[in-house]
Amino acid sequence: MIVEMAKNASREQVDHVVERAEFLGFEVQLNFGTEKTVVAILGSETGKTSTDIFAVLPGVESVSRVMKPYKLASREFNPRSTVVNVRGVEIGGPRVVVIAGPCAVENEQRLMDTASAVKACGAAVVRGGAFKPRTSPFSFQGLEKDALKMLSRVRTKLGIPVVTEVVDIENILIVAKHADILQVGARNMQNFALLKELSKLNHPILLKRGLSATVTEWLTAADYLLAEGNNQVILCERGIRTFEDSVRFSMDLSSIGVIKRFSHLPVIVDPSHAAGHSAFVPSLAKAAVAAGADGLLIEVHPNPEEALVDGLQSLNFPTFEKLMAELKPIAEAVGRSI
Ligand code: PEP
Ligand code: MN
Repeated sequence: MIVEMAKNASREQVDHVVERAEFLGFEVQLNFGTEKTVVAILGSETGKTSTDIFAVLPGVESVSRVMKPYKLASREFNPRSTVVNVRGVEIGGPRVVVIAGPCAVENEQRLMDTASAVKACGAAVVRGGAFKPRTSPFSFQGLEKDALKMLSRVRTKLGIPVVTEVVDIENILIVAKHADILQVGARNMQNFALLKELSKLNHPILLKRGLSATVTEWLTAADYLLAEGNNQVILCERGIRTFEDSVRFSMDLSSIGVIKRFSHLPVIVDPSHAAGHSAFVPSLAKAAVAAGADGLLIEVHPNPEEALVDGLQSLNFPTFEKLMAELKPIAEAVGRSI
């Protein structure tokens, strides 16, 4: 339930709403906007409580039920768009932030070469998988903690933030020590135990859309991350499973507009995992920027033929450089920079 206070509501009136909600056993989260205060009343029983209980209190302008299951990720709760600051790189601001790097960290030299190359082309963040959530247990699982140390050294040497995936609760703290953004992969979008633990961190989280998740399920999963007060959540559209099998996943670009309308969270797009083939990555990347994405997550490898994971969809350095040049006028056409 969302309680919108009147513009001139006093602090005592806001506190009174909070006390009433807590007395009834609900949790509250406050959002002090420049214009007005919004109180989110949280709890599984809110649906059974009359909105009049709050509407009758002094200073309350309106009370609405949140029909959608997500609350904290909603624009009703936070009308202003969230900008996530990753060591000075703002995701959700005017700049389209490009995150690029290999699918998996394979060795330090390759990681360093790739990071330097993508940075020189304008990437603002480097990616590289340390723990790989592979569909088969017999596939390469990543260099794990050794890869985290390599990511750490590369970020220090190049002064660029890094993102890597966290696949289980046990490794949250070590991943957070070495990475600036923790990625929750598509296969873990509804791993609620993992999301709850991540919610306790004060660290930017990149939440990928599940392979078969609706936008509503995705935003509801984001609520788990926001529930303990971590508001540094970035969404990542990476394509969904449909009947179409000519590409790896169907890129749902309409989700960008839907997210922008119904949520305050920034949304970036991963064209690599959707395309599944490097030939289709540039057009999807360009379309995503034109459609209003706040950033891109692109797999780049110095020699895709030798990549241990996802070589087919990885761009080599010249293709990435060309794409970055092509993205510039598109970003400018939609009032952004890159
Ligand atoms: C990845 O980014 O390396 C990855 C495994 O992506 P996804 O979770 O979207 O499949
Ligand atoms: Mn990959």
